[in-house]
Amino acid sequence: MSFANLGLSNDLLKALSEKGYEVPTPIQAAAIPAVLEGRDVMAAAQTGTGKTASFVLPILQTLQGGAKARANSVRALVLTPTRELAAQIQDNAQYYGRHTGLKSAVVFGGVKINPQMQSLRAGVDLLVATPGRLLDLYGQNAIRFDQVETLVLDEADRMLDMGFIRDIRKILNMLPKKRQNLLFSATFSAEIKELAKELVNNPVEVSVSPENKTAHSVEQWIIPVDKNAKTDALIELIKTNNWFQVLVFSRTKHGANRLVGKLEKADIKSAAIHGNKSQGARTRALQEFKDNSIQVLVATDIAARGIDIKELPHVINFDLPNISEDYVHRIGRTGRAGSVGEAVSLVSADELDLLIDIETLTQTLLERRMLPHFEPRFPLPPTSLRAPRKPKKAKTKTAQASDPAARGNAARKPQRKPGSQNESRAQKGPDERSSSQRRRRKPTRSD
Ligand code: AMP
Repeated sequence: MSFANLGLSNDLLKALSEKGYEVPTPIQAAAIPAVLEGRDVMAAAQTGTGKTASFVLPILQTLQGGAKARANSVRALVLTPTRELAAQIQDNAQYYGRHTGLKSAVVFGGVKINPQMQSLRAGVDLLVATPGRLLDLYGQNAIRFDQVETLVLDEADRMLDMGFIRDIRKILNMLPKKRQNLLFSATFSAEIKELAKELVNNPVEVSVSPENKTAHSVEQWIIPVDKNAKTDALIELIKTNNWFQVLVFSRTKHGANRLVGKLEKADIKSAAIHGNKSQGARTRALQEFKDNSIQVLVATDIAARGIDIKELPHVINFDLPNISEDYVHRIGRTGRAGSVGEAVSLVSADELDLLIDIETLTQTLLERRMLPHFEPRFPLPPTSLRAPRKPKKAKTKTAQASDPAARGNAARKPQRKPGSQNESRAQKGPDERSSSQRRRRKPTRSD
């Protein structure tokens, strides 16, 4: 199978060959012809599968025909939950479209709105946007939707998780009724299925399991350790193993900042990436991590979602996530593209329930390894494998077949610990919500 067989134009084929892509990934092979035919698509896929090109390429091709975008108008709209993902999609769109003469742009919160208003003035063929900023732009008459032919909801599950459903519904109501709809989601919970019913019409269903989800390519284990010894244990692990390109997950933004301070004191170059950081700081941290000028990137779940860093060797869970599905997403950051990665979790006795949740979801008892000199004073009780939780609703054939996270999601509501806050909501900085949503929101602690 080659890209030429999928019916892509020479302009796009040229860009793909310059990018060095030789064969389409499974999702590209399935989705590109369907999108080119004008069909709606519902795809169970996450970052790492090549999903971005699977919608960007055929959309660009369709946009090569048809009327030009009028002033302040948009012809194809991609909604996505985070700034990082939005920026990545736009980078891809620009590259793939480099010989087409089409114009793409990206808008997201956390940066000045005026340059974005200017970029929309002459009209844009493909716009990538986070929902809150898009609504703000609409509120300021900077954008018109009457020319929208295609809508993509990317990482729809995460958008709902981040509380964007009202914004998404508002946007849907403003779009022309006749349009093509493409829905991409890593998991298909009851809520997503509900949204899908309103959105897609007789869709082509595509389901792929990402390479990075094959457990064989990720060696996972846990280190039982006392809570107050976690930072020292982390430093010990990184130093004794001389690990580079370590992505450390912290449940909270303050936790991430604190950890960076302590790592820096221990001479480990590191940076944090989360929703309270300015866009510039986030982009810089990611770039420094990619080019190895910092050794450790400490991230919260939302900020890390969708980041594509090839062959990331080490992921460390400093805290276990409150939502067990996030464990699967976290370790999906490592062992990509066939390389073997290591995913290590520091687990204290108070995280026993979270550990059980993860083991139940993944149906794996995680191997325990003691870190010498860090044997816990409060031992982590042994666990045994429990039967997977039964989904309440009928299974979706799309997501269930290949996605353990989808099974868990369909099965129950994510568990929250009393007193802990949903990082997803806490993480969503004001910039990623519309100004009306900001006004509605009650003040909360930042994590
Ligand atoms: P995505 O799932 O869209 O985030 O893509 C994951 C990574 O795979 C990105 O770095 C893409 O540039 C890369 N990629 C996408 N399609 C292909 C392909 N057909 N061949 C090689 N790499 C690809």
